[in-house]
Amino acid sequence: MRARLVAGNWKMNGSRAANQVLLDAVVAGVRSVECVVCVPFPYLAQAAERLRGTQVAWGAQNLSEHASGAHTGEVSAAMLAEFGCRYVLVGHSERRQLYGETDAQAAAKFAAAQGAGLKPIFCVGETLEQRDAGRTEAVVARQLDAVLGKRAFGDAVLAYEPVWAIGTGRTATPEQAQAVHAFLRQRVGAAVRILYGGSVKAQNAAAIFAMPDVDGGLIGGASLVAQDFLAICAAAQRKG
Ligand code: PEP
Repeated sequence: MRARLVAGNWKMNGSRAANQVLLDAVVAGVRSVECVVCVPFPYLAQAAERLRGTQVAWGAQNLSEHASGAHTGEVSAAMLAEFGCRYVLVGHSERRQLYGETDAQAAAKFAAAQGAGLKPIFCVGETLEQRDAGRTEAVVARQLDAVLGKRAFGDAVLAYEPVWAIGTGRTATPEQAQAVHAFLRQRVGAAVRILYGGSVKAQNAAAIFAMPDVDGGLIGGASLVAQDFLAICAAAQRKG
């Protein structure tokens, strides 16, 4: 059985003081589900210090596809590994949409992460326009195949995040999520964990996690509120 995973994506939020309160609360409240918080780069040391030896892992939200050198402002996979990151988000739709990250770049970042021993959480998802045009499967297949054409998915994590559901309060129905997860499952196999992301809240998490091909969640806004994030973690715990 695939172990459930709940990943928090703090995006560009936080402060040293607020992080400490949030991390303390998450450590105190999380029970028996695998859980990771992906924090902004400057807070990796703080996360490492607070979370080392706890049940909560930490990770980053992006990385460079390059190993080192003249790439001002970039952060390498080896640097993330040095700060104890276990996971790193790759190909988040905000990277693709706001920063022009291409499929090829996302695939190169995926390879760089794996090369440093990090587990990529590889994000795919369609826009509303693409869904309405009936192109959801073609889009997520193209995004995923950019990686699969180059290397094995291994123990990386896949995240289905419909762009129209991210930060909009409009979540996919459990059935919509399951349909895309089942499609992705055919491509990556039974062992790979596939998370759903897009306006997951304490109120809708259990219904989404009940779907057979949903193995947990990638949580944006709700990961900034300890009580909400912990409720989502609790909903992800397998019963029985
Ligand atoms: C995300 O940023 O990956 C995300 C799913 O955000 P939200 O939960 O806020 O929709």
